[in-house]
Amino acid sequence: MNFSEVLLLIIAIAITVIAIKITFTFDINKYIENKQEKLKSKIKNYCPHAKFVEINWSIWIQSTFVSPSWTLSYYCDKCSLVRHVLDQSDEERRLELYMKNPDILIKEEKKYVKLLKKGWFL
Ligand SMILES: [Zn+2]
Repeated sequence: MNFSEVLLLIIAIAITVIAIKITFTFDINKYIENKQEKLKSKIKNYCPHAKFVEINWSIWIQSTFVSPSWTLSYYCDKCSLVRHVLDQSDEERRLELYMKNPDILIKEEKKYVKLLKKGWFL
């Protein structure tokens, strides 16, 4: 092997290493992005869309869905889930269930916070 062949071999190896590195970095970024997206949708699934509020020294449970004045849609204050239709009677039933069994809300809130911490959102 003469000098020019060795030089050519070194260049070929360098190009191969760079190509592998670029491919690997790209895949890692995509993998992390996919994982974050999956976690975000999981967080929205686990969000109770309700919170404890204190009104006149007593504890109540309030929906976190709000409708900004310029839109007809509702979005959750906590997880930013958007709902285009919100059945008020369904919503009242859901909150009533939480009022009767606050343990359910506490449990769901714990799961939700755990997922937030897992995704470094807290
Ligand atoms: Zn929510």
